[in-house]
Amino acid sequence: MSKRALITGITGQDGAYLSKLLLEKGYEVYGAFRRTSDLNMGRMKFLGIDNKIQFVPLELLEFTNIQKTLEAIRPDEVYNLGAQSFVALSFEQPVFTADVTGLGVLRMLEAIRAVNPQIRFYQASSSEMFGKVRETPQNELTPFHPRSPYSVSKLFGHWMAVNYRESYGMFTCSGILFNHESPLRGLEFVTRKITHAVARIKLGLQEKLSLGNLDSRRDWGYAPEYVEAMWLMLNQSEPDDYVIATGETHSVREFVQAAFREAGTELEWTGNGIHEKGADGVTGRTLVEIDPQFFRPAEVDVLTGDYSRARAKLGWEPKTTFHELIKAMVQHDISIAKG
Ligand code: NDP
Ligand code: GDP
Repeated sequence: MSKRALITGITGQDGAYLSKLLLEKGYEVYGAFRRTSDLNMGRMKFLGIDNKIQFVPLELLEFTNIQKTLEAIRPDEVYNLGAQSFVALSFEQPVFTADVTGLGVLRMLEAIRAVNPQIRFYQASSSEMFGKVRETPQNELTPFHPRSPYSVSKLFGHWMAVNYRESYGMFTCSGILFNHESPLRGLEFVTRKITHAVARIKLGLQEKLSLGNLDSRRDWGYAPEYVEAMWLMLNQSEPDDYVIATGETHSVREFVQAAFREAGTELEWTGNGIHEKGADGVTGRTLVEIDPQFFRPAEVDVLTGDYSRARAKLGWEPKTTFHELIKAMVQHDISIAKG
């Protein structure tokens, strides 16, 4: 009999890639979406899986709704990817973020405990929990120091997943995933914002790109490889928490430079701080400028993950390089911009 998985956050980047992976493995996939929003099928359509998923309305703010959904579907595995996932918005909507991204996890865990504690549970935790990092690179034992309402909420969810494992013997895994990107990444995140703008600038559809902190450094990986790690975690004999990362870190400035280079433009940088500009090295036209509205009240300066545990226990390793990732994203956005 095929296994049954319930995925919250089905309309997001990871929801789409994880659904594809689980369908290929023969799972029955139930995709939980928010009835209050338009059902955004774009990513699932792009992957050709929109008509293979069974959709169920589920709101992470509603305990009874979660419980009834679990009773109706009786899944073997639950992947909790649903969240208010954008750090910048979490400073504007901290209470909502805590409710969905933090308490939402507890609602899922309590409902699972009530309906069937044998259900295996994956929690989408985040490298943002390391925040103001205490050591480099970060592993599963590195102390946390979250820097935003988003990451404080994720930390609550992380410890709840650990606590339900320790208190009730439930099979819960917290995947501490570092930033992972793809052509399906949301446009508000810096990588996709950049590659989307680079494509449009190349085709004359946009004049310039405005960004915040160019010095910020992230460990960026390729999303389809990261969802594989989620499945691996839930299919071990024992539950555990894992860092999933590439082990490499790059600045936002390096990402911008490489993305423009992929589109045939070499940027030259002048000025400092909010006066820094990136110009076309041939024409001198300004293509990148700083807009303070994109700075955050507290920043996570640099993240680098140590994925040794995942390599040793899951046999997981990243494959796509930083430059291959940027190339795939820029080429995808150029093809979209061409219409
Ligand atoms: P996205 O922002 O692309 O997707 C988030 C999903 O959550 C969407 O499907 C959204 O639905 C859903 N959602 C939001 N609020 C609710 C709610 N109240 N009830 C039910 N569903 C809701 O995120 P990603 O796919 O990139 O990430 C997946 C998960 O992994 C998230 O939890 C994220 O925080 C976490 N994560 C992501 C990382 C990354 O680099 N991508 C790194 C580390 C962790 P809707 O379409 O209706 O808005
Ligand atoms: P995050 O790591 O989950 O916050 O992912 P983001 O892609 O939103 O941001 C990554 C880093 O890029 C953060 O340090 C941001 O401050 C920085 N950044 C610089 N300019 C921008 C911008 O215009 N938009 C976003 N989203 N981030 C930016």
